Amino acid sequence: MKEAIEKIQQALHGSPTKLVAVTKTKPVEVLAEAYQAGLRIFGENKVQEMTEKYEALPKDIQWHMIGHLQTNKVKYIAPFVAMIQSVDSLKLLQEIDKQAKKCQRIVPCLLQIHIATEETKFGFSEEEATELFASVVLQNLQNVCIKGLMGMASNTTDENQIRQEFKELATLFAHYKNTYQAPNLQWQELSMGMSGDYAIAIAEGSTLIRVGSAIFGGR
Ligand SMILES: *Cc1c(COP(=O)(O)O)cnc(C)c1O
Repeated sequence: MKEAIEKIQQALHGSPTKLVAVTKTKPVEVLAEAYQAGLRIFGENKVQEMTEKYEALPKDIQWHMIGHLQTNKVKYIAPFVAMIQSVDSLKLLQEIDKQAKKCQRIVPCLLQIHIATEETKFGFSEEEATELFASVVLQNLQNVCIKGLMGMASNTTDENQIRQEFKELATLFAHYKNTYQAPNLQWQELSMGMSGDYAIAIAEGSTLIRVGSAIFGGR
């Protein structure tokens, strides 16, 4: 694990991009080992799993939700989650706002944008996201802060296609950053890149790479 982490950290060297270690399905002992190796941002995709690991591990870990989140489960992670990267509907954003308010928190969020060709991936289309940023509903959500965008490239070996999809997301991010300003919109994070494509993502401007199997092996 140490060598794998070092390899990724070398790829990140000199860039402001941060590593989110995707720890889903891995037992607490493995996370503790990653913590010992210096990692502090962990990504999970299931509420119960994240909550159990949060309770078992040191409190300076930043927990990022990266999987599809059901509205009825937001309340369990609202007290501690560091970022919800997988906001894929206005309804979910409204629920996060409601639960964050109960905890007197402002929860950092990323809007998940659908950039892949596969039908199954969750996320806003560019048009849906633009509609959201242009609308007034965001103004009323004072307990969330949208920090940027998250996207997953197509599951393909075609590097040109992956690069093209990341370029598209980076262009959209730059456009929003230039166009929409509000207290609860802070354009700081562009989350793209996984085990197979993080090098391309870094080159295309990613600020958060989400890497699982390249560190922990297959699932
Ligand atoms: C599982 C997952 C990852 C990590 O995938 P690897 O290929 O194991 O690095 C990244 N992002 C999301 C949204 C995931 O669900």
